[in-house]
Amino acid sequence: MLSTGCASNIYMGILEKKYPGAEMKQALWRAARASTLPEWYAAMEVMKELNEAAFQDMMNLPPKMWTRSAYSRDTQCDLQVNNMCEAFNRAILEYRDKPIITLLEGLKFYLNNRIVKQKQLMLRWRTALCPMIQQKLEDSKRNSDKWFANWMGDEYMSLFEVSRDNEKYSVNLESRSCACRRWDLSGIPCAHAVASMWFGRRVPEDYVHSSYRKQTFIDTYSHLILPNNGPKLWV
Ligand SMILES: [Zn+2]
Repeated sequence: MLSTGCASNIYMGILEKKYPGAEMKQALWRAARASTLPEWYAAMEVMKELNEAAFQDMMNLPPKMWTRSAYSRDTQCDLQVNNMCEAFNRAILEYRDKPIITLLEGLKFYLNNRIVKQKQLMLRWRTALCPMIQQKLEDSKRNSDKWFANWMGDEYMSLFEVSRDNEKYSVNLESRSCACRRWDLSGIPCAHAVASMWFGRRVPEDYVHSSYRKQTFIDTYSHLILPNNGPKLWV
């Protein structure tokens, strides 16, 4: 079965070819990246004005396969598209047409190298979060200055209204949720959530999903591929 990210990648590739042009591409991706239904409707309206046929094509696709606004918050994934299958295929290209033993030895060499490199990289990293995720959180921290968080007075200091000009989002720190849905979908607090955290002097890093922690990454790569001898020692 295709993952939503993977399916989204395929659909967007096909549609970009079918309906070329910078404006259309922008409208397609705006609709794909929209994390709420109102944002998605607005993007689809733009698309309808640009090209009615493209709009109809997109409306006929199941939204949960291509737009963030229809993704479930269970995923907790920051990726809109997922090229993992293609990336793996490219990585093993030089071994793919080899005899079976050479192929397996090649795959083992590749996988072992990757595990060791990732492990070394992460052991050098000083913060509790993975580097890319820390950067995204820093973006949220920077943008949080533009928002005003208003505490609703609940016992756990977790309910907030976060506003700027005529925009307003409800945040629940306890359930790790913001009405913009970016935190819910990605597991990385959005600027609205961070603005609420500052109010109660909380540490935003504590609210990032556990799958992005350095320790989780190290645990993921903790398994070893054991060494083996060459054919001379085989029975
Ligand atoms: Zn938000």
